[in-house]
Amino acid sequence: MKTGKSKKLDTEIADKRKKEEEEISELAEIGFRMVAVWNTCNDSICCPVCAPLNQRKEDDVGSRTWTLPTGKVGAPPVHDGCRCWLAYEIA
Ligand SMILES: [Zn+2]
Repeated sequence: MKTGKSKKLDTEIADKRKKEEEEISELAEIGFRMVAVWNTCNDSICCPVCAPLNQRKEDDVGSRTWTLPTGKVGAPPVHDGCRCWLAYEIA
């Protein structure tokens, strides 16, 4: 069950991601193609689903999706407590 604090954190993360998406679309509008790169914390408690995806670029530029080791297609967060985030590079 989620505590009030973790709910607040979820909201903050969602807000941050939304702001990032807005910045990316602004850059796209002025002609930059941005490719998303999956980042994991890359530590000993990183899960086996996310670990192989560290530094992996999205499947297709603009798709914001990755083929996971499980065969599913997704984007972070892919599970409860997923700490992965996206970084962007100019394609
Ligand atoms: Zn993750």
